[in-house]
Amino acid sequence: MENKSLWLSYDEATQNDLLAFNEGYKAFISANKTEREFVSASVELVKSHGFKDLDECFKSNTPLKPGDKVYANNRGKALDLFVIGRKPLSQGMNILGAHIDSPRLDIKQRPLYEDHDAALLKAHYYGGIKKYQWVAIPLTIKGVVATMDGSVKTINIGDDPNDPVVGISDLLIHLAGEQMKKTASEVINGEAMNVTIGSIPLKDAPKDTKEPVKANILKLLKDKYGIDEDDLISAELEVVPNGAARDYGLDRSMIMGYGHDDKVCAYTSLMALLDAGECEYTTCCCLTDKEEVGSIGATGAQSVAFENHVTMINILCGFDHHFATRRCLSASRMLSSDVSAGFDPNYPSVNDMHNTCFLGQGIVFNKYTGARGKSGSNDASAEYVAKVRKVMADNGIQYQTSELGGVDVGGGGTIAHICAEYDIEVIDAGIAVQNMHAPYEVVSKADVYDGYLAYKAFLKDMK
Ligand code: MN
Ligand code: MN
Repeated sequence: MENKSLWLSYDEATQNDLLAFNEGYKAFISANKTEREFVSASVELVKSHGFKDLDECFKSNTPLKPGDKVYANNRGKALDLFVIGRKPLSQGMNILGAHIDSPRLDIKQRPLYEDHDAALLKAHYYGGIKKYQWVAIPLTIKGVVATMDGSVKTINIGDDPNDPVVGISDLLIHLAGEQMKKTASEVINGEAMNVTIGSIPLKDAPKDTKEPVKANILKLLKDKYGIDEDDLISAELEVVPNGAARDYGLDRSMIMGYGHDDKVCAYTSLMALLDAGECEYTTCCCLTDKEEVGSIGATGAQSVAFENHVTMINILCGFDHHFATRRCLSASRMLSSDVSAGFDPNYPSVNDMHNTCFLGQGIVFNKYTGARGKSGSNDASAEYVAKVRKVMADNGIQYQTSELGGVDVGGGGTIAHICAEYDIEVIDAGIAVQNMHAPYEVVSKADVYDGYLAYKAFLKDMK
C-alpha cells in the first residue's frame, strides 16, 4: 500500500468542505484551550443538537430509545456522549475516546509573591514539556477560582486582543554563558518558571506594606473578580500559550495552534458523533481529562465515571442487570483517538522510515505505542486491526500506520490500554502532529478532515 498526499485526491467541492471544516476547528480550539472550556463549549454544542443530560434522565427515570442522545458532564472537565443505536447494548458500542487536556503550566496554590518591584506567580508545569520552549512567549491565564461561599469565578486573561498577556522571562543571551553550557533539560529550572504579572506598587498603601506591587495585584483581583489571596488555594488556573490558531505555510495547508494534542482528535471525534446521527450500534464519544499526567483523578480515563455512565445508559435502555455494563463494554469496539508523531524533515533520524507517518497522508493507526519493547502499550489484535481496515476500505478512507519513533528512541502512551481493561477491542487512531507538546503544534488540514471522516465511518460501520 502506497500512501500519497491527500491533497492530490480532492475535487473542488471536497476541498471546500475540508477548508470549511478546518475553519470550524480553528475557531473552536482558539476559544477553548482548557479542558473546562472544551467541555462547556461542547455541552452547549451538543445541547443544540438535541442531547439531554444523562443525570437528569436518570433522576427522572426517562427511558432511552434508539436515536436518543445524552451527555454526561463529569465535573466540567470530562464529557461522555452517547447516541442510542438500533441494536441492543449487549452487542456493544462503537466508541471514540480522546483527551482534552494539553501540556501547560498550572498556577500553584500559594502562587503570588513580590520580588524587587515585580509581582509573580509560582507555577508547576503539567505534562511532558521542553521547558525552554515556554519562556519569552506571550501566555494567557485561564481557569476558575472557587470560593467558600460556593461560587466559582471564571478567569480568562490574555486572549481578548484588549487584554494584557503574561509570560515567563528568560536570561538575556549576553549574560547566558553559564546557562548555555547546561543540557536542554536543565537550561530552564522548573522552579524558575515564575509568571510575571505586574510591576506597579499600590498607591497610598499603608506605610507598613512590605509588598506594594503584590498588594496592587490583589486589589485588581478583588475589584475585578471579588477574590482574596486565600481564594487562590482553591483555584485551577492554567497558563497556556496566547493567541488564536493560525494557517501555517504559504499554501495554508496546515494549522499552527496550541493543544492539537489531543483537541484535534477530540474535536473531530465530537463532530463525527454529531454528524453520524443514529447508527446501528450505540455510538459514544468520551472526552477525557488528565491524560498528559497518566489519566489519573476522577476526570481521567482511569476513573470509573465512564463505567457509571454506561451503567446508567443500560438501565435507562431497560437492561437493569448487574452484568449488563460489563457485557456491553466487553462487546464494544473503540478507537483511542490520540495524535501521532508526524515525520519532521528536520529530525529524520528518530524514525523507522518504514513505520512512520507523514502530514497530509491521512489518519494514523498505531497498533501499539509504549516504550522499551512495547511496554505500557495496548497492542491491538490482528483480527481487530483487520476489521478496522475493512471499515476504512469500504468508506474509501486513506490511512497510514505508524510507530511512535524508532525502537528505543523514546516512546509514550495513550488511554488505549486503560480502556482495554474493560475487555474492549481498541486501537490508537489519530492525527499526525509536528512540534508535539510545544506551545504551538502543527497539523495538516487534510489529516483533520480525513480523521473526521474516518471516525464517522467507524461509528457508522464498525461491527
Ligand atoms: Mn495525546
Ligand atoms: Mn500528549
